[in-house]
Amino acid sequence: MKNMRIKVKAFGCKLTQCEAGEIESGLISAGYDVVDLPPFDIVIICGCTVTSRADYKVRQYLRRAKREFGAKKLILTGCSAQNIDQIKIRELSIDKVFPSNDKEEIVKYLNSDYSYDLCQNNTNIDCNINAHNYDNRTRGFVKIQDGCNQFCSYCIVPYVRGREVSLSPSNIIDKVNLLSDHGIKEVVLTGVHIGRYRHSNKDILGLCKMIAEETDIFRIRLSSIEPNEISDEMIEYIATSSKIAPHLHVPLQSGSDNILHNMNRSYTRDQYYEKIYKIYSNVKNIGIGTDIIVGFPGETEEDFSETYNVLESLPISYLHIFRYSKRAGTKAFAMEPHVNESIKRERMERLSSLDLVLRNKFINTQIGIDQTVIIERIVNSICEGITGNYLSVNFVSNSIIKNNIVIVKPIDYKNGVTNCYIEHIIL
Ligand code: SF4
Repeated sequence: MKNMRIKVKAFGCKLTQCEAGEIESGLISAGYDVVDLPPFDIVIICGCTVTSRADYKVRQYLRRAKREFGAKKLILTGCSAQNIDQIKIRELSIDKVFPSNDKEEIVKYLNSDYSYDLCQNNTNIDCNINAHNYDNRTRGFVKIQDGCNQFCSYCIVPYVRGREVSLSPSNIIDKVNLLSDHGIKEVVLTGVHIGRYRHSNKDILGLCKMIAEETDIFRIRLSSIEPNEISDEMIEYIATSSKIAPHLHVPLQSGSDNILHNMNRSYTRDQYYEKIYKIYSNVKNIGIGTDIIVGFPGETEEDFSETYNVLESLPISYLHIFRYSKRAGTKAFAMEPHVNESIKRERMERLSSLDLVLRNKFINTQIGIDQTVIIERIVNSICEGITGNYLSVNFVSNSIIKNNIVIVKPIDYKNGVTNCYIEHIIL
């Protein structure tokens, strides 16, 4: 049994990647062989169901797993596991489905020669980390929270992930220490709704302070956080802390108040605008990314123009653009009128062009400004890494090794690459 080749494939967000890493850790600790390249005996898919397109990609991979990669067993977990019916399970020849909270049971299932059945009502949201998985990496994901109580009208996540739950600060500190002891320099705090982190009298800011004070990790990065969950104190802390990366990903979704209301988002366009300006004017050189959905039901040309105009006027450094697709089980599923697909595509293209403009604008403001970079890759003396404010940079050096932390000065931006020269090595 144990000399089987097992592939763990993750789709979707950083949380799913974090959970796939946890599954790999469990398998390796139990003596299984986790591999990257086919052929595979077993394929475990940590699926994403956030859009119809995400579902399609998971289905496509499941089909390829048996047909092209030789998999004899297919296991499905992650958000997709909570949003699949028996008909699809049979149609896709999936052998076993493990809801997210049951993913630790996968090893028991394999150990039992596929006879083990799931415990009922498992509420384990933890994400164990095997730090050896992170050997040779510079960045590690740490899950701090799961679930969401917000119920945005387009989003299936609260239905598949359940209500908000946070992991204890001591558990999180242990994981950050473990990663730091294995040479990881940056941790990304992940979850479904991390701005609502609450445990042992700590909120997200209290947790960040605790990690900064009680661990040796060099850099802490937050994954996506809602605008109204970024307090003035949080902004001040990011501005003054040497450990929190000056980078926030703050979803806007739409610049039209009418659409924001129908999406059940909890802020207006003006509130978003003010928040972003407050962050930008207080945190030097911060990089701010955002998510946008185009073609939400009822989105008129005027609504879209409001989105475009607000993005154009904000100091945003990059966009993640999504095309709205109907999701059965969500409130928006029944909303009318639906936007024509060709209009959605055209709006996406306009925003993609704006994204390039915003990226260029941001990078140009960073030319000549010293940046701290953790080196992630070196090929033929070309060193690559990510700055605190989330710029991907390149420079040439023969004296640098992976995981070094260096200060660089960006000198120009050509063909999508920010070229720098090295000032000095910190670590
Ligand atoms: S905040 Fe909204 S978009 Fe984000 S996970 Fe919760 S329901 Fe989904």
